Amino acid sequence: MQEALFYEKLEDEKVRCLLCPHECLLNEGKIGICRVRKNISGELYALNDGIISSANLDPIEKKPLYHFYPGSLILSIGSYGCNMHCQFCQNWDISQPKDSNFNLQPIVPTSEVIKTALNQKENIGIAYTYNEPIVSYEYVMKTAAIAKENGLKNVMVSNGFINQEPLLQILPFIDAWNIDLKAFDDSFYKRLTGARLAPVLETLKTVRRSNAHLEITMLVIPGENDDANEFKQMVDWLANELGEDTILHLSRYFPRYRHQSAITPAHKLLEFYNIARQRLHWTYVGNIELDIGSNSICPKCQNIVVWRKGYHTAVRGLDEAGNCKFCKTPLPFVVR
Ligand code: SF4
Repeated sequence: MQEALFYEKLEDEKVRCLLCPHECLLNEGKIGICRVRKNISGELYALNDGIISSANLDPIEKKPLYHFYPGSLILSIGSYGCNMHCQFCQNWDISQPKDSNFNLQPIVPTSEVIKTALNQKENIGIAYTYNEPIVSYEYVMKTAAIAKENGLKNVMVSNGFINQEPLLQILPFIDAWNIDLKAFDDSFYKRLTGARLAPVLETLKTVRRSNAHLEITMLVIPGENDDANEFKQMVDWLANELGEDTILHLSRYFPRYRHQSAITPAHKLLEFYNIARQRLHWTYVGNIELDIGSNSICPKCQNIVVWRKGYHTAVRGLDEAGNCKFCKTPLPFVVR
């Protein structure tokens, strides 16, 4: 079993996990909020290490990442566990595991993941996704390090709820992130996810300052985070703190798990799209087909540089450096 990184041993065989801002204090035999890190005889272990719940070769647009090797494929793997307990979780069967999820499951060595990734045609790398990859920190770290040595790209699809030190240590291995910003309201985070907003904002700032590519996703949930004024504050924060080139995906909500609101109406997504576009150059709408919000349009000359329909993608207006082919403006794309 894999001993966890980032924890401290305390008296009476207690441990404190320092991986995420929950900083769970665990007595011997107890499991953390993420349900996958356990105190065994005064040491902390990752129960989910090497356990893969799902693996698929996905379009990179599905992560969603629209500006990172657009039109490419990426081997996407998930495990079990999450340090948030979102009432509306779209993958709750793997994010909120029971002990039985770990029993009788084969351990997949890192070398096998790398071999699979290298054997897939057109595959650019490995995405750590489906459940929360932060709670598979050790496995992601060792896989990502070897993947990088083999010329593969590493992508994290994350809720961003991680302490700064582990974030700084994993940053050099991760080429691109998609991080959820679920609302701009701490009470939303506390009530519906069991976490807090401030650490997520810190993560966004740290990743943005790094060399890694960053895109952000917000699931728009009717009656929960769909207040236009609050959303405007979020957009202003993104533009001011991360820059107007920040890439934002607005995603349509469908009822799942313990949360039953109506499906996000198209007019609400359009309203938010229009608010975001006042400050951000790159806003997209996902989980729904609309006439707007899927193509990438050069903010200077207004030509379509990347065309999308569903998961069909055509790069039409980018040169090899990611500049607009029509007006030569440098654009925030990572391309082949
Ligand atoms: S990673 Fe898990 S055990 Fe560690 S602090 Fe976060 S929720 Fe608690």
